[in-house]
Amino acid sequence: MPTIQLQALRRYGYYALMDKNLKSKTYTDLLELVAAYEQKPFAAQYLFSFIQQKNAGHINDITPLSKTFRQQLIDDGFVIASMELLEKHDDTDGTVKFVLGLCNGTRIESVRLKDDDRNTLCISTQAGCRMGCKFCATGQLQFERNLTAAEIVDQVYMAEQSCGKINNVVYMGMGEPLDNFDAVMRSVKILNHEHGRNIGIRHITISTCGLPEEIKKLALSTVQPRLAVSLHAPDDTIRAKIMRIGSKYLLSEIMASLKIYQNTTGKRITIEYCMIDSINDKIEHAKALVKLLRPLKVNVNLIELNSFPGCRFEPADSRQIQAFANVLSDAGIETVIRFKRGRSIKAACGQLGATWLTQK
Ligand code: SAH
Ligand code: SF4
Repeated sequence: MPTIQLQALRRYGYYALMDKNLKSKTYTDLLELVAAYEQKPFAAQYLFSFIQQKNAGHINDITPLSKTFRQQLIDDGFVIASMELLEKHDDTDGTVKFVLGLCNGTRIESVRLKDDDRNTLCISTQAGCRMGCKFCATGQLQFERNLTAAEIVDQVYMAEQSCGKINNVVYMGMGEPLDNFDAVMRSVKILNHEHGRNIGIRHITISTCGLPEEIKKLALSTVQPRLAVSLHAPDDTIRAKIMRIGSKYLLSEIMASLKIYQNTTGKRITIEYCMIDSINDKIEHAKALVKLLRPLKVNVNLIELNSFPGCRFEPADSRQIQAFANVLSDAGIETVIRFKRGRSIKAACGQLGATWLTQK
């Protein structure tokens, strides 16, 4: 094997590289796959429902398929691979953090949040992140690789083993979902499918730091999850100070893509705004944000900054956050202040991967 391929194999792992993992396949992919083996379409339904609904761990567990077809799949290198649960941490507020091992030894984290009747899972899409937000622990880690669709949906399946049915999924863990567009959209289709977990599309949210081209691509997708955009600043100067990506994409480009998204989908967009002391928390910033958001139908989540080792920013004062929220509410923008959860186990927003920063 050429050296370059061997290096890639070591770095990304066999399954990520070849993605022979049947767990990564959407229902449509499986219809194509079974057709290539001259099987009837119902074979795709067995494959999909056994893998995505019944947690089949091996191709031979899918007993309604003929032995010959199962053996053909195995001989052709197809597998059903799962991640490994390495650690589980419980916070007294009901938050649970899972540390999961990927096939090449890389670790990622996901977080279960419990509300009265809702079991939400915050999932990761990349090991590390290339966007380099200076207030985010994940952004300080070295970017390793994109997760496969199987590794994304598996986070839900792993969490369900100890926390019961997950009915809400937010793509707000490690990584930038729209920087791993194909695998992320594939995972949304898998989680949403009626023969799989059947999680309602209104209960799936993708959060992005704002990649204009991918936002426009999302607008044209056949599945339409909710969209949250991490803005964090009312102007480009402040944004570039706290987010590396801020100097690549201007707010005007992001706003234009959101306008297209909204015109196409008609959906309301959630704006996330992390409140950082003396950086973006002043009343004048709130007023500028109102002006910026005027052309869109939005609601705003204000998140108090969570700290991590090496974080050079401080959270905004709670009275300042309330005053900021009042400016938005008075302008008719629905605004919610998000309370911190799971801090004792480093599971709050922006803290994923924080424990590894001190281990380097
Ligand atoms: N990459 C995507 C999704 C993962 S980050 C995005 O940026 O939207 C999920 C959310 O956590 C984002 O809104 C992000 O801005 C926020 N966040 C990151 N670091 C944080 C921190 N230290 N304190 C509070 N929120 C943070
Ligand atoms: Fe990446 Fe989101 Fe963290 Fe920014 S906030 S570094 S985009 S995970």
